[in-house]
This record gives sequence, C-alpha cells and structure tokens, in this order.
Amino acid sequence: MPYPSTFPPLDIPKDVDLWTLLLGDRPRDFPETKEILTCGETGRSYTWAELRSASIEFGQGLQAHWAWKKGDVLAFYTPNSVDTPILTLGALWAGGIISPANPLYTVDELAFQLGNSGAKGLVTQPANLPTALAAAQRANLPLNRIILLGPHRDPSNRIAHFSSIRSTAAPTHHPKPPLTPQTDLAFLVYSSGTTGLPKGVCLTHHNMVANILQASYVEGSQWRSRGGADGRGDKQLGVLPFFHIYGLTCGVLMSVHEGWQLVVLERFDMDKVLRAIEAYGITFAYVPPPVVLAFSKHPAVEGRDLTSLKVLHSGAAPLTRELTEAVWERLRVPVKQGFGLSETSAVVCCQVVDEWGKFMGSVGKLMPNMEAKIVGEDGEEVGEGESGELWLKGPNVFPGYFNNPERTKEAFSSDGFFKTGDVFRRDKHGNFYCVDRLKELIKYNGVPVPPAELEGVLIGHKEVADACVIGIEDPANATEVPRAYVVLRDGVVGNEAKARELADWVATQVAPHKKLRGGIRFVEQVPKSPSGKVLRRVMREQAKKEQRAN
Ligand code: AMP
Repeated sequence: MPYPSTFPPLDIPKDVDLWTLLLGDRPRDFPETKEILTCGETGRSYTWAELRSASIEFGQGLQAHWAWKKGDVLAFYTPNSVDTPILTLGALWAGGIISPANPLYTVDELAFQLGNSGAKGLVTQPANLPTALAAAQRANLPLNRIILLGPHRDPSNRIAHFSSIRSTAAPTHHPKPPLTPQTDLAFLVYSSGTTGLPKGVCLTHHNMVANILQASYVEGSQWRSRGGADGRGDKQLGVLPFFHIYGLTCGVLMSVHEGWQLVVLERFDMDKVLRAIEAYGITFAYVPPPVVLAFSKHPAVEGRDLTSLKVLHSGAAPLTRELTEAVWERLRVPVKQGFGLSETSAVVCCQVVDEWGKFMGSVGKLMPNMEAKIVGEDGEEVGEGESGELWLKGPNVFPGYFNNPERTKEAFSSDGFFKTGDVFRRDKHGNFYCVDRLKELIKYNGVPVPPAELEGVLIGHKEVADACVIGIEDPANATEVPRAYVVLRDGVVGNEAKARELADWVATQVAPHKKLRGGIRFVEQVPKSPSGKVLRRVMREQAKKEQRAN
C-alpha cells in the first residue's frame, strides 16, 4: 500500500491559475503595500501591488507588441534580478509559458533550450547579451524578440527593452486569456531526468498552484505559529538561482504568496550574503549544502551579527549530519532539510522546524495530498525501514516531458506513479531519508549536470574513443563533482598532462558548473550493458572503492 502524507489533505482548487493564486483578487493577511522584492545590492524594490500592476502591464505589452498568445514560450537567460519575477508573472498573466535557462550556459546549451522549447522571446541582461545573441541566431529567434533588462538600452534599437514592452494600454483592450490550469503549462524547466540529455519538464498551472499551497501549509504554517503577531515579518535571502525549480518555487513564488520579503542577490557570494543578512535582518534562507558549508566554515562569518537568522533550509542535494551540527555549534541556527525535483514542481518532503534535531538526516515528511511508494528491484514495495526507489503521486507531479512520449512513458509506472530514480527509506513516524541515487544525474553545488551531455562532448574530441562520466563526492566542498573515465584512441598516450589537456578543453565547451572538477581517469574500456548502455553504476562503485582506499 502506498504511504499517504501524514498531513491532513488540502483543498487545492483545480480552476485557479498561478497568476490568479499569487496576484488575483482575494483576501490576504498582508497589506498590498508589503515590500516583496528587494535588490540586496541597490535596495530597488517592488511592493506586492507594484508587482501586480507591473506584471499586468508587461503581459499586456506582450500582447500589444508581439501578438502574444496562450502557450507562447518566454525564455530567460539572466542572473537573479528583482525584475525577472515581474516578467515571469507578466508572461503568465498573458497565458505564456516560462522556460528559464542557466545564465552560465554556453551558446550551444542555450540554443538547444531555445530550439527545443520553441521560445518566442528571450529575456537577458547586458552581460549575457553576446551569448544570447549568438544562441538566438542559431535557434532562428529574431533579434527583436530579445528583451534586455537593466539600465542600459541597445543604441541601435534592434533589441527591445523591458520598459518599452511594458504597456499602459487599457485592460479591456488586452484581457487576460482564460486558462485551463490542469492542462495549460506555466513552466518548462530543463532536467535530464533519470537518464540522457536535458528534457523539458512540463509543469502545469495546477502543478504549481498545488505545490505552493502544499509548501505554504507546511512551511507557512510554522512561520505563522512562530513569527509573532502575524508571522509576516519574515525576510528571505534570495540567493538560490531563479532558473532552478528550487529557487523559482521556494524563493520567488512562495514569497509572493506568503508576503515574505525576498532580498535578491545576483548569485552566491558569502560577503554579500552576510551584508544582506545584517542590513535587512534576514530571517531565513533556502540554500543548497555548499552554502550551509560556508555558514559553518567561512572565516568572514566571524564577528558578524546574524542574530536575525532563525533557520536555514537545505535542499537540492544531500546534506550531512556533520554540517547541520557544525552550523548549530557555530551560530545556534537550526538547518532543516527538504527534498524535491523539477518533475514535482519542487517540494516533495520537508522537515518542520519544531521537529528539528529529532530525526537527523531525514528530508522530512511527505507534502499534503501526495502518496509515496518505496519499491524494490522486483517492482514490489519494500517493508517499512527498508530502502528502495521512491515513486510519487500527487497534484504537484508533472504530466510528462515536452514532446517526448517515450521518456514520459519510462518515467511513470503502470499505476501512474512517477519514478524518481532516488533511493529512499521511511521510518515509522513518516520521515523520509534519501539514501542513494539510482539515476545518473550529478549535482554540482545543487545544480544538475547531465553526465550524458559531458560524454557527448568528450566523444566529440578527436583523441577520445569512448567516455563515461559519473559524480564523485567532494566532502571538503559539500558537493559532488563530475569525473570522466576515458578510453583514448589507439596511439594516444594517457598521462597526467593529457588528462589536464582534455579537462581544459571540455571546460571551453560547457557551462562552468559542468567542468570535470573530479578529473579524468584513463581506462581500457567503459563498462556497457549488452544493449550498449553505459553502466555508470559500475564506475560509481569503483570510484567509491578508490575514495575509501585513499
Ligand atoms: P532537480 O530536478 O535539479 O531539482 O534535481 C532533483 C534531484 O536532486 C533529486 O532527484 C535528487 O537526486 C536530488 N536532491 C534534491 N534534494 C535532495 C536532498 N535533500 N538530498 C539528496 N538529494 C536531493
């Protein structure tokens, strides 16, 4: 029997789209003048009411200037900024689908996402413009479909500026199109899933509405019960990347829903993080494990006033008990853990603050309205406390991969459960523990690295005959790093210099988080199944043995 959530079921409306949930007319227990988005460096900010009106203006502008239709895709290629939530919510208002890309992507990586998603427009920043232009050209996206954020404009006027798209047209001319939340998509985020190259993860409006209400019940309720008169004084550090589902849902969307103030930083930089905590009185942050490591070890933390910080939430990759304890010892700040995936609109499990310290190592309890199975290799559920693959069902679980029926079919069981590719166990109190990963995905600092992509790059090198890429532990930096096992072509000598040369060459071909930081090892052959599938698991076991021996 599947495990139901231990939280009571929620009434999740099926007819409400994401924009309406966040910015529609409904009673809220915070004022419209509440500041929601604040730039951590300049202090530039938007209140909830400003966010609402600016998003409508942008949505109407898209309709007026670009004849924007329901289902059109707007891609993002920009570091975090206080403006991106406005464009995101504006395009959603106009029935658009948002496809955010990692701002460190190379031309090829971005062009793939633009082409695969069929993007009709691209939002970027001046620093990213050269790559954006080259990728747009490759994906046949006209230059006048690029929108620039920030104070600078394109002198030749070929590229649109955010402010010129924002329209002040009367709402009646450009009404919000009616949406079907259960089937219309809100986001198309890219993930490699359990295997292969990145694929578009379709997330419907209903998926996102459900996950916000689920997380609001679990996370919001504890703030409300802990945060004083109305608990609305909470200030979140917006340091997670907004292109990743964790930063998008828990950072941006939850803040708008809950009325939290999100203090936005472009990217992680410990000095800026500490300054923002002190200047704004940050009360909590969603972070990946390497940021938890920085709180436990970074010398700049000494002597700083971090007393406003009530809790850190770690997610996106495994967190060790040692790190949790080290932060508690140093700062007396509890670190709790959650678990999620792109395919589940983000949050699946979450520890609650009040249980902190009781179930160390757990990623917490299953979100309301979800069901989970823990399944052995024979496809049957394992007994309580035993480990197996985590399978999930719930309103936040995606309907499938974009234009990819084959991968979609593989991702679901015959009884409709999504197979996560993660190995879990559950205790008798309903706490879940992530114990291993079956799938090939590597997480560097919480950001996904698809090994198949790196293998493709390596095999494209004239001296490489075959390659297998896996993740190895880098405990000093609280992350995994990609390592390649390479078969060289006949006559090429594999030595340290060759390994460095190849790793440096790969670094010129991929975004920085995909660099082969775990090094290159030369092997005679790559283990393969009879059907020719790379057996990464064999190499992972071998690497673990090597690491234990050292
Ligand atoms: P993504 O789609 O990029 O969010 O990646 C989802 C994957 O990240 C999951 O399937 C897990 O393998 C991993 N992950 C997320 N949260 C955790 C966690 N708390 N502990 C271990 N792995 C995690």
